[in-house]
Amino acid sequence: MNVLKFGGTSVGSAERIQKVAELLLQQEKPMIAVCSAMSGATDALVEIAKSLYNNKKDVANKQITELERKHLDTVKQLLSTDKYLQIGEDYVKNRFEYIRSFTLDMFTLYEEKAVLAQGELLSTAFLSYYLEEQGHQNQLISALNFMRIDKEGEPDNYYIEENLKRELETESPSGIYITQGFICRNAYGEVDNLRRGGSDYSASLIGAAIKVDEIQIWTDIDGFHNNDPRFVENTRTLSALSFDEAAELAYFGAKILHPASILPAQNANINVRLKNTMEPEVPGTLVSSTSSESSVKAVAAKDGITAIKIKSGRMLMAYGFLRRVFEVFESYKTSIDMITTSEVAISLTIDDTTHLDKIVSELETYGVVQVDHNQSIICVVGNFIAKNSGLASEIFTAVSHVPIRMISYGGSKHNVTILVDSSYKKETLNSLNNHLFK
Ligand code: ASP
Ligand code: MG
Repeated sequence: MNVLKFGGTSVGSAERIQKVAELLLQQEKPMIAVCSAMSGATDALVEIAKSLYNNKKDVANKQITELERKHLDTVKQLLSTDKYLQIGEDYVKNRFEYIRSFTLDMFTLYEEKAVLAQGELLSTAFLSYYLEEQGHQNQLISALNFMRIDKEGEPDNYYIEENLKRELETESPSGIYITQGFICRNAYGEVDNLRRGGSDYSASLIGAAIKVDEIQIWTDIDGFHNNDPRFVENTRTLSALSFDEAAELAYFGAKILHPASILPAQNANINVRLKNTMEPEVPGTLVSSTSSESSVKAVAAKDGITAIKIKSGRMLMAYGFLRRVFEVFESYKTSIDMITTSEVAISLTIDDTTHLDKIVSELETYGVVQVDHNQSIICVVGNFIAKNSGLASEIFTAVSHVPIRMISYGGSKHNVTILVDSSYKKETLNSLNNHLFK
C-alpha cells in the first residue's frame, strides 16, 4: 500500500480534482489518498474565523457566502449526473450551514479549529463523489476518526495506528481510500489540526502508522530543486536525497515539504517520493536513508530571520552563561536556529519574534544586546562526510563579496549555514550556485 498526498493546488479546481482521480486510477492499489483543502480555502477559513472572533458578523457572512459559492461552482463543474450534483450540493450546503451557525454565538478558539477543518472535509468529499460517479466505489475515511494529537500537541502514534487500521478494515472495491490531511482531534477529542501546511505531516504519520511501501507527496513542482527557482535561473531537480538532507532543506526554506513530515518516515524507514501532479511521468525526488556520493546537493534560503547578539565580559572563562541565555529563549517557547559563539559574545537567530521585547530585556541583564531584523539564512545542504576538506574555502570564495553576519559550519555533516542581510539573499544564492553547481 502507498500513501499519496495531494496539495491544495493539486485539488484546486474541478479540473484538477479530475486529474487527481485519473492519476489515482493509474496507480497501484490499495492506496490512501490524503488531500489538502482546495488552494486558498484554508486561508479564507482563517479570515472567516478572524471575523467571527472579532464579532464582525456581516463581514463573516459575506466571506462565508463567497467561499460557499466557490465550492458550489466546483461541484457544478466537477459532477455531471443529477444524483451526484445533488449529493455534492447538499454536502457543501451542510458544511456551510455549520460554519454559519457560528455567527449566532460566541466564538472560541476551539471553534476556530472546527471552522478550519471544513476545507479538507470538502475537498476529499469532492474527490470521493467524482470517483464514485465515474463508477469507482471508494472509501472516504474521516481523519477525525484516527488522527490524533496528545496534550503536548504531538501525534499519538499508538492511537493513530490502532484506529486507522480499524478504518481500513472496511473494504474499498476500487482499492482507493481517501482521507483528509491537516485535520485531527486533540487529547480532549476536540477538532484540531497539525498546523498550517500540515497535510504532508498527515501523510507521513499515516504512512508510518501502517508501514506503507512509499509515501508520495504530489505537488505542483517536480521535486526538490538544487536552489530556489524563484531567485536563481537554471536550477535542477534533485533525483535523490537522504532523510537528513531533505529535513535540512525543508526546514531551511524549500517550500515543497513540511519539515515535520520527514521524521515519521525516517523513523519507520519509509521512502518519501516527491512528484509533480502536472507532470506525473517526471521521476521527481526520492528521499530515503541512502545518500548519494555527490557532496553539495542544494542551497536554500529562509527569510524573516532575526539575529540577536549578546556581548558580555562575564562570558570570559565563565561557565553556565550559555545555559542562562538559552533558558531565556526556552521560557518564551522560542526556538533558536543558528548559533555562533566567541569568547565574549554569542550570536543566535530566531524566526518567531512574538516575545522578542521580553527576551531582549531579560538578556540585557547578561550583557549588551544587539538585534538585527530582516536577515536570511542561506543553507548549503549535502553529504559532507565524503568531502570534508575544501568545502569551506569553496563556500567562502563564493560569498567573498557578501557581508556575512554569521556562519555555522560543522554542526552537522549535512549543512553549512550562512546568515546575511535579506537584501543580499538573491546575490548569495546566485553566487553559491555559480561556484558549487558549475
Ligand atoms: N490546508 C492546510 C493549509 O493550507 C493544510 C495543507 O494544505 O497542508 O495549511
Ligand atoms: Mg503544503
